[in-house]
Amino acid sequence: MDIITLKLSVTHCFLLKTKEGYVLIDTGYEADWELFRRRLQEAGVEFSQLRQIILTHHHDDHAGLLNLIVKENPRIQVVMSRCAKELLARGENDAAHPKGVINRRVRLLLTLKRFIIMLTLKKYVPKNRNLKFPPYEVRPNDILISGETRLEAIGIGLKGRIIKTPGHTIDSLSVLLDDGDTLVGDAAANMLRFAGTKYCVIGVSDLDEYYRSWQRLIAAGAKRIMPAHGKPFSVDKLIANMGRNKKQNMVMVSQGRLEKQLR
Ligand SMILES: [Zn+2]
Repeated sequence: MDIITLKLSVTHCFLLKTKEGYVLIDTGYEADWELFRRRLQEAGVEFSQLRQIILTHHHDDHAGLLNLIVKENPRIQVVMSRCAKELLARGENDAAHPKGVINRRVRLLLTLKRFIIMLTLKKYVPKNRNLKFPPYEVRPNDILISGETRLEAIGIGLKGRIIKTPGHTIDSLSVLLDDGDTLVGDAAANMLRFAGTKYCVIGVSDLDEYYRSWQRLIAAGAKRIMPAHGKPFSVDKLIANMGRNKKQNMVMVSQGRLEKQLR
């Protein structure tokens, strides 16, 4: 289907057109507000046309604009994992679950702080990122997802479903359209491949779970993977790279430390 990409500072958000209006997949950093407004305008879409926001997970670069957007149009329903509710209310990226940087090579790059890092990694982490976002309180109209859910079943006029894809975070979910287009948030990524990320995002809280989510996406018929970080790619890449990052190669760091190193 036609998917409009809204390119923000470090993430992509997506707009899906329905008969009733648009579904927005993810928001962006709080600091991206002006950029977000501009992208929406360039797409010729008004806030009043947004019907739902599907949040792939609670992180600051995905949930940062929730409050501002629903203030523009309070009728928007926010759809999220049931696990996201509490995390969103805290206004901070979940640090309670262990987090691994993908592999030693990435860590080496992080530690060296060479110009290449400045040029490439910094692109992914804005200067004043503090892993916090304005806390969001779930409203009565919002929709909490507990398991696989057809979009039609929650009032979205699109053929597709929401499936749970944890591993990056406990609340990660993906939107799988029946034509195979799949919006995964950070359940896969197309970034820093020179550093050996192999289509994983750099921070993963549970690598086994992360790959199980890939298997779920493949089995469910995903064809084109549209990540929040990096360009869309074919599901064949997930098949070819399944399990290629090993747990023993992961460096466990708290997210705060990782972010410090990236600064
Ligand atoms: Zn994330």
